[in-house]
Amino acid sequence: MAFKSSSSYTDAARLVLQRCDQLGSYSEEADRRTRRYGTDAMRQVNEAVKGWMLAAGMQPRQDAIGNLVARYEAATPDAKTLVLGSHLDTVRDAGKYDGPLGVLVALACIERLAARGQRLPFAVELAAFADEEGLRFHTAYLGSSVFTGRLPPEALDLTDLDGVTLREAIRAFGGDPDALGIAAHQRDELLGYCEVHIEQGPLLEANDLPVGVVSGIQGQTRVAISMTGVAGHAGTVPMSLRHDALAAAAEYMVAVERTAQNTPELVATVGQLVVEPGASNVIPGRVDFSLDVRHPDDLVREKALADLRAEVQAIAERRGVSVAWQMVSDQPSLRCSPQLIQLQRDAVTAAGHPVLMVASGAGHDAVTMATLTDIAMFFVRCKGGVSHSPAESVALEDVAVAIEALERFILLLASGGDAT
Ligand SMILES: [Zn+2]
Repeated sequence: MAFKSSSSYTDAARLVLQRCDQLGSYSEEADRRTRRYGTDAMRQVNEAVKGWMLAAGMQPRQDAIGNLVARYEAATPDAKTLVLGSHLDTVRDAGKYDGPLGVLVALACIERLAARGQRLPFAVELAAFADEEGLRFHTAYLGSSVFTGRLPPEALDLTDLDGVTLREAIRAFGGDPDALGIAAHQRDELLGYCEVHIEQGPLLEANDLPVGVVSGIQGQTRVAISMTGVAGHAGTVPMSLRHDALAAAAEYMVAVERTAQNTPELVATVGQLVVEPGASNVIPGRVDFSLDVRHPDDLVREKALADLRAEVQAIAERRGVSVAWQMVSDQPSLRCSPQLIQLQRDAVTAAGHPVLMVASGAGHDAVTMATLTDIAMFFVRCKGGVSHSPAESVALEDVAVAIEALERFILLLASGGDAT
């Protein structure tokens, strides 16, 4: 199999980073990088990526919600399709690589195929999703939910902070809210979905490795908890007569941390807290807070949740406050395809690097794509494991390895897994 010299991976990586810089300049806010679904900034990234897809000889289209989709056709018609992709929207005050890197590494591999005039026994389809982070409508994976035909119709009534509905936003972005229910593909048309993404964690850096192979995406439960006690005067109510909702919540938060520390691989976070009435001289009467619990094994996560629910009730009872527990979302863990993982391992090994398997702590478009086809992911080392921040940083050499690993993976799939 004829590979170009390793320096050409570096050249391709340099172009990927230049393009990340360019896309990173498109923002709806002047002083920070923010691209919500349907904004002018999203229009600008789609235009730029569309131009690069066209230059690679593909015919890009925008689907019903505005995902940018382009195909590199197979050697023969009616062949199956391998989907590559990631997202082009961002969180608020984002970095340049979460999302765009995956789209542009995949594009680099397609450009290399096109430059060689090499057609494969399957089509390669690049999907640049228009909403993964869910910043505008507070729901994740809008883009890939439309691609897979899984967006519930009631989602169209969601509104953003300005009162604009998703239905209106889709129309304004040139999409068609009445055509959302149609999946881009049937399951039997697809070979799988492979996504490249920055790691968003410290394991690759700690192991001094440029890329990793994702074993799966851990399950995640989000709960909204309210503790209600009795507000009162901070000077006149003696300690023995208080029902302080914040003190109860604080005790519970320490218990959450302890439970996670004592359970291997469990992570649990209280990240949001609203104190009522929230004055320095008033005993807190009510506290609303979030609980986020994740683990690769669903049974361990479910057991931990049951324990944490019993714990909050015990603390509330002892302190004479009431508690409400509302499940917000409950996402089971996902395993990446063992067959695709084997090809990824062979690809990384052939590129000259040890293989590290990593469980993804964050959700990705692959979560939704798994409802339609087999999924696979490569992680790329990012500096300090930092993401969702302008401090996101990746190294040129690591991006070159990511391009090589993805290319070798695609070619291994094309040759039926034969590494020779
Ligand atoms: Zn992402």
